[in-house]
Amino acid sequence: MLLLGGTAEAMSLAQALEGDGRFAPVYSIAGVTREPRLPELPCRRGGFGGVEGLVAYLQAHGVELVVDATHPFAAGMSRNAGAAVRRTGTPLLVLRRPPWTAARADVWQSVASLEEASAALGTEPRRVFLTTGKTELGPFFAAPQHFYLIRSIEPPERLPPQGALVLARGPFAVAQERALLREHGIDTLVSKNAGGPANGAKLEAARSLGVRVVMVERPALPDGDAVVPDVAAALDWLAEHYRGARRTVLGV
Ligand code: NAP
Repeated sequence: MLLLGGTAEAMSLAQALEGDGRFAPVYSIAGVTREPRLPELPCRRGGFGGVEGLVAYLQAHGVELVVDATHPFAAGMSRNAGAAVRRTGTPLLVLRRPPWTAARADVWQSVASLEEASAALGTEPRRVFLTTGKTELGPFFAAPQHFYLIRSIEPPERLPPQGALVLARGPFAVAQERALLREHGIDTLVSKNAGGPANGAKLEAARSLGVRVVMVERPALPDGDAVVPDVAAALDWLAEHYRGARRTVLGV
């Protein structure tokens, strides 16, 4: 099994498979984070080299199942995995946590891209909490009239002219998020619709303070033999379909 990882649920699935002799999973990460969390399983790090590279990997390692447990916004990896399994006839299980949805009290605007999110901030100066990741600040340099509070695990290469940086790795508590929004006088939150409980606290905090949310919605899901929302459902699916499987590459 090839397990494509890089998310909390990929880690949980990998941990659940530790010591399970049925699958011989290999856990795969892109290797973009300097100190990634890794399970006690055989791991590999770094890209495969596009669809061709992944096809070659699947064939060379006799992979009998791919699990795509990557982040909902890792669209390139998911697209490549979908294409490679179609070419090799390998089954694909997609583990995707459900997206967040707006509650009645939310002031929530859905957009399709970071560029649209930047435009949606408008011309009037805003105080924006930006949680989209260190490599995705580009579109916001086009709107320098706003103040940006940027939170990321590792520092970005540069900050917008009116920018402040908070280096932190979640999960965060609602009270902590509320205090941060208040401290910086934030009136707008920009987030990707990652979903999951770990970072939902910022949305709850925004709701309680009447902070507007600009939500970048997800790219399309890859075609898989099954798409499951959590680790329990993934384990059920594996138990049902792969009683005797020997080698699965599970990518999260
Ligand atoms: P991406 O744009 O879909 O991937 C870019 C390239 O990185 C892929 O084409 C692939 O290279 C390589 N790659 C990605 N995930 C890989 C994996 N699990 N194992 C081996 N190679 C992988 O993805 P991204 O948005 O840069 O994200 C990179 C990783 O960080 C993903 O694994 C994702 O789960 C994790 N992550 C992403 C986000 C996010 O917001 N995008 C947030 C948290 C975690 P080749 O074409 O050479 O195979």
